[in-house]
Amino acid sequence: MPQAGIHAMVGMATRKWTGAREWLLLGAVLGSVTPDLDNLAVAVATLTGGATEGLHRTFTHSVFFIAAVVAVFYAIGALKKDARWTNLGYGLGLGILLHILVDLVLWFNNVHIFWPLNGEVGLWKEYPAGLEWLREFNEQAAEFLFFGVYLWALGSWARKFGTDGDFAGKLRFWTWFEFVLFAIFFILLLTGKIFAIISGGLYLVSILMVFFVTIRMRKTLEAA
Ligand SMILES: [Zn+2]
Repeated sequence: MPQAGIHAMVGMATRKWTGAREWLLLGAVLGSVTPDLDNLAVAVATLTGGATEGLHRTFTHSVFFIAAVVAVFYAIGALKKDARWTNLGYGLGLGILLHILVDLVLWFNNVHIFWPLNGEVGLWKEYPAGLEWLREFNEQAAEFLFFGVYLWALGSWARKFGTDGDFAGKLRFWTWFEFVLFAIFFILLLTGKIFAIISGGLYLVSILMVFFVTIRMRKTLEAA
């Protein structure tokens, strides 16, 4: 079920279409992760005692958000007379669109693709009966597994293309960090223990880390 790491790998898979245009593939990978940064808004609302309703899978999962992002980066590209920013905006738009499509097909929840207008869309309204264990696995452990798999995939590209060698050690650290988190939370889940606040906090740390690692390793995406 589309964890952020899976979305990022869907972004990587667009390299056949994005070609050699600078920052386009970078945008597609970042855009594939961006919609789930709305979890930061959920966290802020939770910590400040605000309402979390209507924050996840709404404003960042909307076709209007895509249009706004592409327009803003188009304007930056025009102002700076630098086509890379325009490419980045198109890439982000493509990535966000793919994220929404993958969520629609594979997530057991509705997506507000026309936010702020009404109209939720989704193939599955909720988890089918008998699959509650899958919900807990997804929410408590699987995000870390797929962050790790994504970072591992990025590292394998870096080795293949001979790029970002100076970052290899840190990348290895973060990749193992994610696999270890997965192992810990999976074992806790098997023993029936759920630490939603701790795993939620580590999820936010992880998604921001993945965002910055992706930007740091843009040479690898350029070379792909
Ligand atoms: Zn999503």
